[in-house]
Amino acid sequence: MPLRWANSADSHILEPDDLWTESLPEPLARRAPRSERHGEQEITIVDGQLVRRDPIAFVGLRPPGAHNAKDRLVDLDEQGVWSEVVFPSLGMWTAMISDPELVQACCRSYNDWLRDELVRTSHRFVPAAMLSMLDTDDAVAELHRTRDLGFTAMFLATTPPPGRDFNDELWDPLWAAASEAGAVLCFHVGTGGVQKVARGPGGAVINYVETFFPAQRTVTHLVAGGALDRYPALRVFIAEAGASWVPALADRMDEAYRQHHMFVRPPLSMLPSDLIYRQVYTSFQHDRTAIQAVMAMGYERVMWGTDYPHLEGTYPDTQRVLAELFDGVPDAVRELITLTAFSDLFGTAPPGEDASADRDGTAPG
Ligand code: MN
Repeated sequence: MPLRWANSADSHILEPDDLWTESLPEPLARRAPRSERHGEQEITIVDGQLVRRDPIAFVGLRPPGAHNAKDRLVDLDEQGVWSEVVFPSLGMWTAMISDPELVQACCRSYNDWLRDELVRTSHRFVPAAMLSMLDTDDAVAELHRTRDLGFTAMFLATTPPPGRDFNDELWDPLWAAASEAGAVLCFHVGTGGVQKVARGPGGAVINYVETFFPAQRTVTHLVAGGALDRYPALRVFIAEAGASWVPALADRMDEAYRQHHMFVRPPLSMLPSDLIYRQVYTSFQHDRTAIQAVMAMGYERVMWGTDYPHLEGTYPDTQRVLAELFDGVPDAVRELITLTAFSDLFGTAPPGEDASADRDGTAPG
């Protein structure tokens, strides 16, 4: 039994290779995201375009629990993770599809599979349903459908498609639907947009850091454009971008809002920082500064995550990472970051209380 339980706001599942080829009709099946191994490389193909090429060594860490719920629960218990938000893997690439029909078909079939694999298995899983980034009506329809299937979390990309910036009111029906349905919009870094890859000196670090700038843009657009102000019950979560940048961004936005007030539209009912501290949640794996965002800067919407099973994550050393991170940190802060910010946001039970046996596919409370 682990020394301390934690909830993970950021984990991933590996989809079956034939998820879309089996579930979608041709020609959609052929155009859905897929990966292929060629020698020492794994390539990812989306709608006929090669979007990514990784050395096998990079994608190598794939414990059995990454593929299915049963083995996954074993890893969770062993690592000391109670509940977790589960994002897709191959499914993250659906944000690069430009055909609304194809993306909606991929979303529906992924979400149906996710329901069978995770939602029905244990309340400890908080899988994020995939929504279309291309068509607001499609996204709203799938939000309602998956909410009825028991989902609370909804996955969106941090880079929106061209012409669909997050400060645009064309998104309002989705913000309204999420707000009314009590669904959490979960934006995961490194998703959407054109993958620009640096290959020169420092490329590995540059490419990793690049994924975090769109996260800042997402928050900026949602706050400045008034979405969080118009929908005060809306909760948004930026996964895997760390947390200590949030107070700095909030300061920057307050400065603009105050000093450039003569140019600011729309006016907000409170300062940008107030909206951010109220409605924007974030997650980190290793950042010591994320804990200081809570302790020193008073930003409390901070969650920790394993990023299981990725290289950036903490598997298989989760308990060691937790011990190092929280050594000397007051218990109340540790509990907030590793347990209660998560359970308050997603409505999950405390460690040891799993209502899975009662599960009948209805929405969690
Ligand atoms: Mn992640």
